Amino acid sequence: MTKGNLLYEGKAKSVFETSNPDELLVYFKDDATAGNGEKHGIIQGKGVMNNKISTFFFKQLKDRGIATHFIEAVSDREMLVKRLDMIKLEIVIRNIVAGSLVKRLGMAEGTPLSVPIIEYDYKSDELGDPMFNRWHIMALNLATINEMNAIEHISLSVNTIMRSILKAKNVDLIDFKLEFGRAKNGEILLADEISPDNCRFWDSETQEKLDKDRFRHDLGGVEEAYQEILNRLTL
Ligand code: 5GP
Repeated sequence: MTKGNLLYEGKAKSVFETSNPDELLVYFKDDATAGNGEKHGIIQGKGVMNNKISTFFFKQLKDRGIATHFIEAVSDREMLVKRLDMIKLEIVIRNIVAGSLVKRLGMAEGTPLSVPIIEYDYKSDELGDPMFNRWHIMALNLATINEMNAIEHISLSVNTIMRSILKAKNVDLIDFKLEFGRAKNGEILLADEISPDNCRFWDSETQEKLDKDRFRHDLGGVEEAYQEILNRLTL
């Protein structure tokens, strides 16, 4: 595998072509943004930790029958993945009230939900990732009903698997964001990353936040929180 041209520069990751047209190289950066890019900072070592945490989750999910874009980690900060036709949606799964849901529902942070909530956000920096429902998605031809059914089914399975893995490590999965793409044969695969950048992780006993909310809200101990999650999962 040879690293090729830069295909896409994201806020926290860069994506490169490789000598194989069906495979891409994802490079995890230390850069962090919040508030739709208004706040920018560096979380030292985040790229290395997120590559390791994502690799851990993708492997665990594969072992439990979830198809993902992950092929292998090829360096501290780089992961080889399958090239997909990405669906321009963020799928948010929530188990406990937190973040933007606090305002929207007028409920206290930490309130458990009786069933998980699935939300869709349209991936658009210009529009600030507006919330979509299935009708918006169909009207804009972003995904078919069958694809949305597959996405929701996989998302709920990922939620169940991750909650059980994390519970054993004394961590509660509050909410998280997933992204999906289409493989060459049309199969829907889980893509992007699974890390403290796109998940809310709370210590089960103390409710201490062990995720990017520490950066978003200037709580301090950001690097330590990412390291704590990596340690609990892999040590
Ligand atoms: P909220 O809507 O409460 O801000 O976010 C819900 C969950 O989805 C959180 O775990 C958050 O980390 C994740 N999430 C939502 N939007 C984004 C996004 O644009 N980027 C990342 N990395 N995560 C997001």
